[in-house]
Amino acid sequence: MGKQEDFVLRALEERDVRFVRLWFTDVLGFLKSVAVAPAELEGAFDEGIGFDGSAIEGFARVYEADMLAKPDPSTFQILPWRGEGPATARMFCDIVMPDGSPSYADPRYVLKRTLGKAAEQGFTFYTHPEIEFYLFKDTPVAGADPVPVDRSGYFDHTAQSMGADFRREAITMLESMGISVEFSHHEGGPGQQEIDLRYADALSTADNIMTFRTVIREVALSQGIWATFMPKPFTTHPGSGMHTHVSLFEGDRNAFFEAGAEYQLSKTGRQFIAGILRHANEISCVTNQWVNSYKRMMFGGEAPSYICWGHNNRSAMIRVPMYKPNKGQSTRIELRTIDAASNPYLAYAVVLAAGMKGIEEGYDLPREAEDDVWSLSERERKSLGIDPLPRSLHDAIGIAEESELLAETLGEHVFDFFLRNKRQEWEEYRGQVSAFERDRMLPVV
Ligand code: GLU
Ligand code: MG
Ligand code: MG
Repeated sequence: MGKQEDFVLRALEERDVRFVRLWFTDVLGFLKSVAVAPAELEGAFDEGIGFDGSAIEGFARVYEADMLAKPDPSTFQILPWRGEGPATARMFCDIVMPDGSPSYADPRYVLKRTLGKAAEQGFTFYTHPEIEFYLFKDTPVAGADPVPVDRSGYFDHTAQSMGADFRREAITMLESMGISVEFSHHEGGPGQQEIDLRYADALSTADNIMTFRTVIREVALSQGIWATFMPKPFTTHPGSGMHTHVSLFEGDRNAFFEAGAEYQLSKTGRQFIAGILRHANEISCVTNQWVNSYKRMMFGGEAPSYICWGHNNRSAMIRVPMYKPNKGQSTRIELRTIDAASNPYLAYAVVLAAGMKGIEEGYDLPREAEDDVWSLSERERKSLGIDPLPRSLHDAIGIAEESELLAETLGEHVFDFFLRNKRQEWEEYRGQVSAFERDRMLPVV
């Protein structure tokens, strides 16, 4: 039993913990939880807690269903919304097979494996997500339009606003769980909020995002409202993205920084951007995994539709944030494709793999997009070499199926399951007769 495990076992007594929830994430990014009694924890640290993998999206084929959840003691936290005395705690788990090897289906392992490959080249991957979501007055009802909690817009400050009260309570709860928040504000849509987490290594960030989604939903329910990370809940209002600022460190040196270079961006930084751009289409079905994701990226609303980068250009898919002299260690790039309903482990794994490919192969960075790319004509974009991102989940799946980078990064099992699942989603969607069709056709045809 290591030091961290001992710390957890002691904390269980000191904090009067009655239930310990073991958390892990399925392939589509949904949180799974099994509660164990504190007495079971020693065994859980040693061997893991068994569960039937075949019952969980993407985990196992029926004939190899037994899997074990092994808690990671460094992720131990008390769940503030469950109250004290007795308290409820949680830990994230790694999923292992009965022989002790890591489960090929565990998204946390997919990310760990990809981080491990970057570490072999001497790099640590840091991420800082800007998470957007909507707050609605009520629990969603099938067929009814959701009603946002307010009518405010970007950065609005209104007296006694629901959004501000909500953010305050959510941030207090996040911080009590060790998740630091950097910024928060009202976003562009009515009822739309944004909370930005402080940068951390990508594995911690992905765990933090899973916790974040749970906290946001819990706080909403406790206030009698509803929170959603759906990428595009309204046709006429902006969608919810999860723009992520990323950087690579070599030891304690920011590998994207080079004093005196253009935008202080090193060759490594330029190649990393080039990698994400070159493979953007292939990884799109992971960074934007739902039918609905593609509706966010087609009408502007500051969500990207084209594969390009820019310096402070909010129409670009990758933005190199504001130039500050001597910004040094904080040099980073902002990737704007990822949406708030992606699986953060898989999304960060494929982004890192694409960027690393750019470094390994020494890709050249294309010219920066200086204009608002939405306002250019198709011809102008073509002549500048700016291609569109996939326009639908169907297009994204077609490209992903051919991607070696994706197959290698996700591993054969997750790659196959994921694409099969997404193809099925598309087929179900394709057969739906929508209100759009009825409204257009019934009166005239
Ligand atoms: N809501 C926009 C998106 O879906 C982003 C707005 C912003 O620039 O923060 O990506
Ligand atoms: Mg935003
Ligand atoms: Mg942003």
